[in-house]
Amino acid sequence: MTPRGFNAPDIHRRNRAGILRLVHRHGEIARNDLARALGLTRAAVTILANELIDEGTIVEAGSPDATGKAGRRKIFLRIRPESGMALGIGADAERLQVLLSDLAGAVLGERTLPSPATPGADGAAAAEKLASNVAGAVSDLLGGRTASDAGVIGAGLGVTGWVDSGTGTSLREPRLWEGPVALREPLERALGIPVAVDNNVRALALAEFLFADTHSSAPSGLLFVKYGPGVGAAWAAGGIPWPGAHHRSGELGHTLVEGDGPPCPYCGRHGCLESLISARALGERLGRPGARIEELCAELERVDPSAFAQLAERFARALGNAIELYDPAVVALYGSPFRQGNLLVEIARRVESNERPCEIRRSGLDPDLPALGGVALAFERFFLDAGSDAHRQ
Ligand SMILES: [Zn+2]
Repeated sequence: MTPRGFNAPDIHRRNRAGILRLVHRHGEIARNDLARALGLTRAAVTILANELIDEGTIVEAGSPDATGKAGRRKIFLRIRPESGMALGIGADAERLQVLLSDLAGAVLGERTLPSPATPGADGAAAAEKLASNVAGAVSDLLGGRTASDAGVIGAGLGVTGWVDSGTGTSLREPRLWEGPVALREPLERALGIPVAVDNNVRALALAEFLFADTHSSAPSGLLFVKYGPGVGAAWAAGGIPWPGAHHRSGELGHTLVEGDGPPCPYCGRHGCLESLISARALGERLGRPGARIEELCAELERVDPSAFAQLAERFARALGNAIELYDPAVVALYGSPFRQGNLLVEIARRVESNERPCEIRRSGLDPDLPALGGVALAFERFFLDAGSDAHRQ
């Protein structure tokens, strides 16, 4: 890779972006702490923070639990939640979800529509239909106003399958449509605001950093794993999910965990994790095709404990391999099967890894809100643009 230099406007934008990210991450943070974290002088931070205050994106707030000494009240900076809104869109084989959030990440409204899945259909037509369905839900959420009139800073779409986030294209997702499908342009046309598009699991890993892990430092390495209806993962270092050289990283579900098994309709191999434990596989085994993954896992645990143990064993095998490969600080397991019951514990205790030092825990994100990944993509783009879009009300 050729090293790239930065001009003065680039540096200014990157420093503003750094301030916005840290203020968002910490909820509230003092200028001195910002300067230390970013390696900037306090004077430089003050100039940039004052710009963001003048624009209305952040506000000053006094700490209620400061030392109490007169005149020594510590001043913190916070995001002004009402200074804008963001839209998150989540598209998979189960549903199309649209979320509206404020600039602090609090969910203001949610609409869930039928999945855009039209396997075998013309991709361009599927994308137009998706965009028009999303626009209808957005208009409903905003009481008939347009997104830009309502102060929406941007939207993000997290979609299953291989995604090129640079071009906003779904490269391959046979469960939804015939690819490749350009998704960004139709959505930007329908909504009139910038739209970022990425793989849904990478988007959720970003959401884990932005919304579930706030008020703490970003883990140096996060392995984010989603279960239901298939199995997907994202590897993130330094808060940034890695897309892979060909936009197809994180296919934990298609790593082999058995020497044999049914052929996988997605990757074509035998013995991959997904072919053995996906909602489709469990539904066939239990005679309940189409049932939701959490119901299937709960039933398997009840009626066939040894098959349930085998499921945990296979999951743990794939996870242990990924842990050996990446050496994460945290493994976050996301999905409704982990919300309750024993599955997470049963998997974690079966992971065999060399004195595994990483923490395996439940994701802090609500599995019923997959579109939070899209909200995170919109935030990330807003941070990269350093809050410079003309969104102020
Ligand atoms: Zn497979």
